Amino acid sequence: MAQDDVFKKIVSHAKEYGFVFPSSEIYDGLSAVYDYGQNGVELKNNIKRYWWESMTLLHDNIVGIDSAIFMHPTIWKASGHVDAFNDPLIDNRDSKKRYRADVLIEDAIAKIDEKIEKEVAKARKRFGESFDEALYRQTNPRVAENVAKREALHQRFANAMNAGDLEELRQIIIDQEIVCPISGTKNWTEVRQFNLMFKTEMGSTADGAMTVYLRPETAQGIFVNYLNVQKTGRMRIPFGIAQIGKAFRNEIVARQFIFRMREFEQMEMQFFVRPGSEMEWFKHWKEWRLRWHKALGLGDRKYRYHDHEKLAHYANAATDIEFEMPFGFKEVEGIHSRTNFDLSQHEKFSSKKIQYFDPELNESYTPYVIETSIGVDRMFLSVLCSSYEEQELEGGDKRVVLHLPAALAPVKCAVLPLVKKDGLPEKAREIVDDLKFDFTTHYEEKDAIGRRYRRQDAIGTPFCITVDHQTLEDNTVTLRERDSMKQTRVAIADLHKLIHDQVSLNSLLRRI
Ligand code: ATP
Repeated sequence: MAQDDVFKKIVSHAKEYGFVFPSSEIYDGLSAVYDYGQNGVELKNNIKRYWWESMTLLHDNIVGIDSAIFMHPTIWKASGHVDAFNDPLIDNRDSKKRYRADVLIEDAIAKIDEKIEKEVAKARKRFGESFDEALYRQTNPRVAENVAKREALHQRFANAMNAGDLEELRQIIIDQEIVCPISGTKNWTEVRQFNLMFKTEMGSTADGAMTVYLRPETAQGIFVNYLNVQKTGRMRIPFGIAQIGKAFRNEIVARQFIFRMREFEQMEMQFFVRPGSEMEWFKHWKEWRLRWHKALGLGDRKYRYHDHEKLAHYANAATDIEFEMPFGFKEVEGIHSRTNFDLSQHEKFSSKKIQYFDPELNESYTPYVIETSIGVDRMFLSVLCSSYEEQELEGGDKRVVLHLPAALAPVKCAVLPLVKKDGLPEKAREIVDDLKFDFTTHYEEKDAIGRRYRRQDAIGTPFCITVDHQTLEDNTVTLRERDSMKQTRVAIADLHKLIHDQVSLNSLLRRI
């Protein structure tokens, strides 16, 4: 099945089974804003718990905060967001559609890459075992021509972006003959900078309202609380502050479901270190964050690092952790060495001294910062996409199953009386009443047992517990495992331990 079709199926599955709904749907939706349904919110909360506990439980030098979304507007001046948090936009005059100029060019580069890879794949098929890929890439004239074309375009694009040269960006679009996917024409406007921050007003206008911003990242809430936390928590460097919260960006083109939203959630941790030790810590967090991802068991080959060549003005190293989505490898998390830029800027703009006295060195300095920043919604999407499978079963039957990591699954177990009579529902309820204190437990008695299993598979429930007539005699039940569909007869008294071993967050945290 084409990856596009798989993605469409995942999006409709997410809606059908109460994971993600378009926002304001009965009013035809609101672009790039989504709501999480009854199963989605559980999965999302479990992802957040996994991240939060991995930071604050496993590290005795990391503490959390929860800062407000509204902050003093000067914070965004100091951070550079008012002046520089822009994307270059361009409109097509015929379709009236708006695009990010940089994304149009990146897509054109990706198309050349695709051509190169197609050519190589064809040759691999033709030559079979004896195929020397490296040699082929160097010597095949068509491949070499495309590689040269790609490099030249990439260089020109990087120069234009670095120089903030909007005219040159437009010229690249014209020269590459990029057309609007909707109208098919090259009738482009000028390229303009567009600030991504949402503005609103605080206070009544009669009093002279103040313009405030909806925060575009949670990080600044951490930086402006650095002194509060360091002093009240008596924190010693190196230490970190973690935060989970909403962020808002007026994205020009919001695409790919919950991958790029206008309202989303971030999990960010800023780690404060001694100047000069930042590269060591950058390496540490780069490795540790990948281990956190891999512990989920979604498949080690689905991750890769993307080290940045072009660094933001405040960074001296940066990498992304990319995940293989149905639409290609995409950034899920950024790890940045932010130097002392943010704290120094806040020192300058607030006129408050933001320094750390290092008792070992007997000197004061502005700490350097390593940031790990991951989007909850992108993490959710990567878990959902890699868990979704349509299976053909023996006997021609089919099922859709979400192989969610058990600790993240919205429902951990479902208790199902085989029939709706003979005291089986009552017995099943007794089991629910015991398990519900530790696990999210569903009770279901409607429909044939096979259909009930399918419904639980579709939301990724790791265990189904079936209560039958034998249960009334010997207090045993069948425990059905989601992925293998294996059924075993177990004592009710053993259920708690059997389930706990597989679904606890604790066991997931131990795997990092
Ligand atoms: P992109 O290049 O995809 O726009 P970014 O580099 O601007 O992302 P950061 O500013 O580094 O992203 O933000 C950190 C993380 O926040 C990202 O890795 C991503 O997971 C998440 N994120 C950023 N923008 C969005 C968005 N519009 N919707 C959902 N998640 C987002």
